[in-house]
Amino acid sequence: MNFDYDLFVIGGGSGGVRAARVAASEAGAKVGLAEEDRYGGTCVIRGCVPKKLMVYASEFSRHLDDAYAFGWSVENSGFDWQKFRKKLHLELDRLETVYRNLLRNAGVDTYDQRAKLLDQNTVVIGKKKLTARTILIATGGRPFRPDIPGIENALVSDDIFNLEKLPKSMAIIGGGYIACEMASIMNGFGVNTKLIYRGDQILRGFDKEIRDHVAEEMAKNGISISLNEDVTKINVTAEGLELVNSEGKKENFDKILTATGRTPNSDDLGLDNSGVQLGEKGEILVDNFSKSSRESVYAIGDVTNRSNLTPIAIREAMSFIETVFRDRPEKLDYRFIPTAVFTTPEVGTVGLTEEEASQFAPLEIYTTKFKSMREAFAGREDRVFMKLIVEEKNQKVLGCHFVSPFAGELVQLAAVAVTMGATKLDFDKTIAVHPTISEELVTMRKPTRRA
Ligand code: NDP
Repeated sequence: MNFDYDLFVIGGGSGGVRAARVAASEAGAKVGLAEEDRYGGTCVIRGCVPKKLMVYASEFSRHLDDAYAFGWSVENSGFDWQKFRKKLHLELDRLETVYRNLLRNAGVDTYDQRAKLLDQNTVVIGKKKLTARTILIATGGRPFRPDIPGIENALVSDDIFNLEKLPKSMAIIGGGYIACEMASIMNGFGVNTKLIYRGDQILRGFDKEIRDHVAEEMAKNGISISLNEDVTKINVTAEGLELVNSEGKKENFDKILTATGRTPNSDDLGLDNSGVQLGEKGEILVDNFSKSSRESVYAIGDVTNRSNLTPIAIREAMSFIETVFRDRPEKLDYRFIPTAVFTTPEVGTVGLTEEEASQFAPLEIYTTKFKSMREAFAGREDRVFMKLIVEEKNQKVLGCHFVSPFAGELVQLAAVAVTMGATKLDFDKTIAVHPTISEELVTMRKPTRRA
């Protein structure tokens, strides 16, 4: 059968663009891609990229204070949100153009509209029907709003980048990546910030000691963290918003952000017509090769709700290309996914937590807590925390965790060693780079304890 395309991709985010571009430019495929919103997807337009630029912007409040401590005379006349926001959006426009050009230069036909499946080899775009040998769904996800009366008055992460002005106070509901990062950003901008989490410690799923330490540091920096608190209602008042909790306590805030997870974008894509099966959260169910329940339909990235991170969507795209276009079926190894939470201070982590590793093997736990040279000189109370989880029997480093400045940068390199299966001896043999924060990673000689 003749198809219009070898591959049709729905969704122009990190995963979709990578798959389309490589299929067209390196595998010689005829490729079409439909995107109804902006090219670049969540990561580029309303996620990682603008968030990281906001992290940088917010950290200048600390840098300016520290500059005084280091002998500089700097006049701090405050932060101009509108000026920053304007520049931020110019940068996002530039990046969107880069993404469009990548597709154009690779020879991908783009359709700036919503596409739906008619059957497992046909997509409908407006009145047009196009056929494809393979269809790839990479439509990402969207913020999830919990079922709380008045929640429609709360912001979600997408809204943060478009705020007209910075609020004086903000409550943030949730204790995951976005809640913690946004709390640090807003606090850095001078917004009176309260983080409200329903559980007993933020960042569930991370190593317990890391969670405790970063929460302590965030609180030291001025964020009010309220644990075991359930929000039951949000009321609009003359002054702003009133948040009511399960004990009936009421508090007023200028703005409330709900950062309570994300939902896969699988609605209204014609998936029922084509027999593509979905899971409980609406995620497209796929096998180890990203193939859905239909032979010709694949899905990658957040719409599959496996590990909702940009580099994973990109790697899933590359594995998809290997499998479908190069006849070299490739499964992605999800065991060692390094990740960072861009709080102040940052969290960087790769491998197993102590709680996970202790389920299957006796461990040696190495930890260190110290004031970095820079922070100490600036008169700050901040402390770095590092932790290595080592399997006692074979001395393999199973997990490596940091709470420190630049933890995202540190963990990227530590991840190479952990992914390669480095032992504690390999760390010990590595010569320290002095004076740095990360040298402590190779100078922890004795276990703090066994577990
Ligand atoms: P997360 O899954 O990280 O966190 C969701 C938080 O919301 C959890 O604390 C959860 O609590 C809480 N929550 C969920 N439902 C409710 C509810 N009904 N009422 C109250 N609280 C609730 O999601 P995020 O939205 O923070 O981020 C989405 C994903 O995006 C992340 O998982 C991550 O994959 C990705 N991301 C990655 C970043 C990075 O790499 N730096 C940055 C930002 C996002 P509980 O723990 O009790 O379930």
